[in-house]
Amino acid sequence: MASFEERIQAEVDRNFDNQINFLGKLIRYPTLRNQEGLAQDFIQSALTERGYFVKRFQTDASLVGVHPAFSPATVDYTDSWNVIGSRKSRTPGGRSLAFNSHLDVVPTGPVERWASPPFEPRRDGDWLYGRGAGDMKAGLSASIFALDAIQAAGLALQGDVQVQSVVEEEITGNGAATALALGFTADAIVSAEPTAERLVRANAGVFKFRLVTRGRPAHPRQAALGKSAIKMMMVLIERLHDLERKWIDEIRQQPYFADIENPVSLTIGTISGGEWIASLPSECAVEGRIGIHPNDRKEDRIAEFENFIKQISLNDPAFGAENSISLTWVGNLNDGYILPRGSEAEGCLRTAHKLVHEGSELPESVVTAYLDAAVFAAHGGITSLVYGPISQNHHGIDERVNLASLRRVTKTLALFATNWCGVEEAERQ
Ligand SMILES: [Zn+2]
Repeated sequence: MASFEERIQAEVDRNFDNQINFLGKLIRYPTLRNQEGLAQDFIQSALTERGYFVKRFQTDASLVGVHPAFSPATVDYTDSWNVIGSRKSRTPGGRSLAFNSHLDVVPTGPVERWASPPFEPRRDGDWLYGRGAGDMKAGLSASIFALDAIQAAGLALQGDVQVQSVVEEEITGNGAATALALGFTADAIVSAEPTAERLVRANAGVFKFRLVTRGRPAHPRQAALGKSAIKMMMVLIERLHDLERKWIDEIRQQPYFADIENPVSLTIGTISGGEWIASLPSECAVEGRIGIHPNDRKEDRIAEFENFIKQISLNDPAFGAENSISLTWVGNLNDGYILPRGSEAEGCLRTAHKLVHEGSELPESVVTAYLDAAVFAAHGGITSLVYGPISQNHHGIDERVNLASLRRVTKTLALFATNWCGVEEAERQ
């Protein structure tokens, strides 16, 4: 008689082609910001068919500035939909579990630079290509199919489970924050972000900003009378890299980040400016992000950043006027988190990983980008495990997820769920 672990793994294998097919369908939905609705319809039906109690809700703009887990948002949330499927265990008493995934993806960049269209899944050997394949539609598929495998093996979890499909992860985290605020919590959270089968030990906090420089427009003939907002922005970006170097030095003194080459990762993601080809530009705007250490007090770093910009605008010779630079927070203003060592949830994941990886220990990693797990860890006090498949080029060109890795992760998540919640034969219920 096969062990329950063997039965579950066999079910993941048996159903893996269907899982790839499901993932392919998800990739076909271009779930850019505020365009996730159709994909959430698909997830809602998939969970309803499986017998979950499904709740669909908008990201809650009214809690921005009110609830500490929320970050500033610049869009209307009328079309910002989250879906959560819940299933109660029949025998009470087991620990509960929520699989958290985000359905939103970042823009593709120039489509002609992709080897194939980014929203058409393409399989090449053990890789599946597409925007969002790795970050993180594969992880969402793993959560759903891990729970399917337990059921198909004739087993039932002894704890309540949730499958969360949220949005806004790539910009504010307000989808996960809404889930938290509505009470969609559990004794442990697992998020199958693409971590190359490593457990995230520490995660940086992230701020997202918009900066505008204001110059003095002028005719090129009278350039001396004007001041180019674009040149001002070039100077400002250099000054920001000075701040970045200071923060790197400070953050690398702190636990887990000493070996990270750039834990701060100041990134200028967008730029626009100028009004006319032959006029000195009056305005230039950039948007970007910067990271902090999970032990940093967020409020202190925010104040430091704001003060840094203010001092430049007042005192730097390239600026020298109070309103020469404006700063707006336009996305994440999030704390990071450190996963404390030795939790029971981590132990359950270690055991599962080891079984699927033929005795290899669970490796760990540090992530310097925002993760929705931070919402649950920092504001819910919940043990949050981030662990998912091998993926390449997320946020880049030709994003792809490794299917052998996805299969192992699906098995590991299923076995983790049985270790954490407890498991019984379905017939005995
Ligand atoms: Zn992600």
